[in-house]
Amino acid sequence: MRDNIILACTECQERNYHTTKNKRQHPERQEYRKFCPRCNQHLPHKETK
Ligand SMILES: [Zn+2]
Repeated sequence: MRDNIILACTECQERNYHTTKNKRQHPERQEYRKFCPRCNQHLPHKETK
């Protein structure tokens, strides 16, 4: 039971990554450090709907 999530840059709100995770194991919102092409640097990306 894995759910699709979208990761959005916390700086520019650009949605850069689609991934999946198990919401039963990780019900809380997680942050992932990813490269944002718009900001041109690594920044925390948050889950969005
Ligand atoms: Zn960004």
